[in-house]
Formats: sequence, structure tokens, C-alpha cells
Amino acid sequence: MRIGYGFDSHAFKAGVPLVIGGVKIEHRSGLAGHSDGDVLLHAITDALLGAVSAGDIGTFFPPSDPQWKGADSTIFLKTAVEEIATAGYKITNIDTVLILSQPKIVPLAGDIRARVADLLGIKPNQVGIKAKTPEGLNQDGVAVAHVTVLLEEIKVNDGLKSMSAEAEMDMNDVVESLVNGVRDTRALGRKRTFDTDDLT
Ligand code: MG
Repeated sequence: MRIGYGFDSHAFKAGVPLVIGGVKIEHRSGLAGHSDGDVLLHAITDALLGAVSAGDIGTFFPPSDPQWKGADSTIFLKTAVEEIATAGYKITNIDTVLILSQPKIVPLAGDIRARVADLLGIKPNQVGIKAKTPEGLNQDGVAVAHVTVLLEEIKVNDGLKSMSAEAEMDMNDVVESLVNGVRDTRALGRKRTFDTDDLT
């Protein structure tokens, strides 16, 4: 198993749409950011990438790159989901804390939980959505998200589909190894290695 942690914050800004956890929310202000400012999806993305030592959201989607201006943050999350699958892991559960003065999250939490679960390809009971107001923090103009994620190794018998995909990939690797005369059996493994050079 592997654990990941993600944090993000964005300032509220009048006149922009508010999107949290991939859910569009009616509110007088939204979150400022280079992308759509979805503070929760950004923190989840970082938690997933961190769990497999694959860098962070900025590694894949630099704010300096104009193509991500106003981007839908579900794109970032999808990339992180692909990264953990490539590394040979799946999500056991995630837990989140949002800290913001408004809007009230309680009436929206069910929708956010269902949307996040759908985006991650897991069940709603594998997603925790909690919200706090920033008591004593003097940060009413800011939304903050903290996320932890637990991953478990994908076993070959997790499903016929993944099993056949594994078999096909291994066979390709075997053929490639034979063609190239590579004898290193480590080349047959699909897993990403976890070394500190991956950290950014
Ligand atoms: Mg962000």
C-alpha cells in the first residue's frame, strides 16, 4: 500500500464560476486560478501523484503554459488516475477536508462525493467529503483543501480486463526483449520504480 497527501488553496474572486470537486456551484464568486480553480480536484491530483512519487500537478501542467488557462481540472485528475494505474496501484479510499467560509458545503457534499467518485472510478463510499469554516484563521476570502489517499497494489486477479491487458503487455515486453537481446528480466515489469529522482 502507499499513502498520498495533497494540499491546495485558491482565493475567491467575484464574477468567475465556482467549481469544487468537479461540481458547478451557484455562488456570487468563484475561485481565481490559472485553470478553473477547482481547489479540491487539485489537492486530490497532488495526493494521487505524490502517492506514486510521480511529481505534482505543476510537473504535468505548468501554470506558465497558456494551454492550461481556464482548463477543466478533471483533465488534471484523469492524468493522475492514469499515473497510479501505470505504477500498478488502485485507490482504496480518499478523505478530504475543505476549509472555506462559504458557501455551505453540507447541502452539496453528496453531489461532490458522487462526482469525485465517478471521476476516480471508485464508489462513493470510498470518498470522504468534509468541510470546515476557517474559525480564527482570518482567511474568509480563501478556499483550502487537504486530501489523503490510500492506494493498494493491483493484483492480477482484480479483473479479466486488467488481466488480459497485463498479459498482452508482458508478451510485448518479452518479444521486445528477445528482439533487442535484452536479458534483464526487470524489463518485464510494468511498475514504475520509486526513486527520489522522481521527486519535484
Ligand atoms: Mg490549484
